Amino acid sequence: MTHTCHWPGCDRRVPPKLWGCREHWFALPRAIREEIWRTYRPGQEADKAPSRAYLTAARAAQDYARAYDARTPTAGRDLDAITVWQPWASLIVAGLKRFEWRTWPAPKTKIGQRLVIHAGSHRISKTEFRNLLCRPEPSCGPDADADGIRALLADGLPSLPFGAGVGEVTLGTPRTAPEIDPDPRSDPGKWGWPMLDPVAWDAPVPARGAQGFFRFMPSPVPEPHPSAGGDPVAAVMGQLL
Ligand SMILES: [Zn+2]
Repeated sequence: MTHTCHWPGCDRRVPPKLWGCREHWFALPRAIREEIWRTYRPGQEADKAPSRAYLTAARAAQDYARAYDARTPTAGRDLDAITVWQPWASLIVAGLKRFEWRTWPAPKTKIGQRLVIHAGSHRISKTEFRNLLCRPEPSCGPDADADGIRALLADGLPSLPFGAGVGEVTLGTPRTAPEIDPDPRSDPGKWGWPMLDPVAWDAPVPARGAQGFFRFMPSPVPEPHPSAGGDPVAAVMGQLL
């Protein structure tokens, strides 16, 4: 027996004792999560008789989720994401890095799906950056557009966004490095994930990254005038604290 995640609009199936999917659960403030666990009674999903305190906490979670959705960008909503270090994230969404190299082939369920490219906050060394500009083929794929890459990176690494979604691609069917490039230096232990139909977003969307595939969750945007007109998230928190 499962139910859908209680985050409005999320269609992921989760076990009865969980409030929602992993990403949405951890998108809730800690106070709300603790209140849901505190008021949850095992078996309430079977006898359909949750306590009033649980219902209040569950409503606070839904109010928070709606407020969160209302104040965060819609770009990448409900898509999976992968974190890629800069400058490769920006190169992918610009169509200048055609393969993402990993030591494993992507799960079949992800192939053909739209995927957010999240630029991690890690800073590569100046040497690595210089090596990329000199010889982009190993990381960007054979037939890499070296001039285009140098032009995109002309302002240097610090000009690029970090810790943010930067665009989307469709994941193609992974192939091994020697299949993609018969050059004898190709590493047979590496898989090239084709980054198809890249789109760079107009503005980066701040979000936290993770390892592997994860649900893209933009960081909530602060209210422009939190003191005027009431902050919906603060109001929800106020009911609990
Ligand atoms: Zn969910």
